[in-house]
Amino acid sequence: MRSKRISSNERSCWSGTGLASAGPITSVIAMVCLAVGSASANTAGTVKVTPLGGQKGEFCRLDRALVFEDPNGTRILYDAGRTVAGPDDPRLADIDIVLVSHVHGDHIGDRHTKSPNAGTCANPDFSVDAMPHSSSVAIAVEKGAKIVTGSEMPSFFAAKLEKAGGKSEDSVLVRFGAMTEVGGVGITTVPATHSNGLAPGFLTGPLADYMTNSGITAYVGPPTGYVLKFSNGLVAYLSGDTGITAEQQVVVRDYYGASMAVMNIGDTFTTGPEEAAHVVNELIRPKSVIASHANEEATRDGEVLPGTRTEKFISAANMPVHVPLSGMTMEFDQAGSCSRGC
Ligand SMILES: [Zn+2]
Repeated sequence: MRSKRISSNERSCWSGTGLASAGPITSVIAMVCLAVGSASANTAGTVKVTPLGGQKGEFCRLDRALVFEDPNGTRILYDAGRTVAGPDDPRLADIDIVLVSHVHGDHIGDRHTKSPNAGTCANPDFSVDAMPHSSSVAIAVEKGAKIVTGSEMPSFFAAKLEKAGGKSEDSVLVRFGAMTEVGGVGITTVPATHSNGLAPGFLTGPLADYMTNSGITAYVGPPTGYVLKFSNGLVAYLSGDTGITAEQQVVVRDYYGASMAVMNIGDTFTTGPEEAAHVVNELIRPKSVIASHANEEATRDGEVLPGTRTEKFISAANMPVHVPLSGMTMEFDQAGSCSRGC
């Protein structure tokens, strides 16, 4: 059985890269960020990726959340899910952009842990109810961040932001099409083959009751993945929940040339390890991959457990697969290789 063992050297490297963050983005800094982004890509600097999972140093059952930090300081939270302890989670630090691939509760955050590392890796604590606004909306309001989504979700998030005390204009549309630049990072959405029903609990009033009684969900458009182009030139694909799609080759590889991929491997709900390996080996062919959404206790003491989906995916992929251990920052260069922390 193959497994990934984490050496003590690597751990000390991570502790040096931690969660140190740029200061709050003031309007002056935001202008600088935009200037950086609109110039031709500066290949200096790395993109830092920090998983905010259920247990520090582990890859746990419902881990989804990743924080990407552009070399220009812009910080992006991808699919907060349930393992982020709401807006007060100290691991978040500053967040400028919140991405939500789709509105299922384990991605938008219908409930969440009461504090980082509560519960166990196999059974994390998700005791805090975040309905009807969601953890993603609460975080965006508290941090003054923009929620950047595709399909029909922007109008939903605009209404939610306003009701939760934020600004509706902080909901930004990136429907399948051109990239939009936010904070110096190019962002677009790509199709994901999944579903995107909004649970009635996100609504209030009689409509919510009618829907609950009928067993139906609300339409907020199709689910999405993302392609991000960072200011150092790194292009990353975030799969969201999806099966195999033709766009993974035609759009993500042929057009955007993604060199790093965050790939969901959860089986049934998304590509399993074999399908996900086909996607990265044949369709996208990135330099490196971060496994995500494994829906299992994938590691113990930072070591991948035998017989897990994560282990199968690592074995089947032709390129390095990095395991998203919570709190451990990985750094990626312009070409998509992990240069530190992996
Ligand atoms: Zn889903």
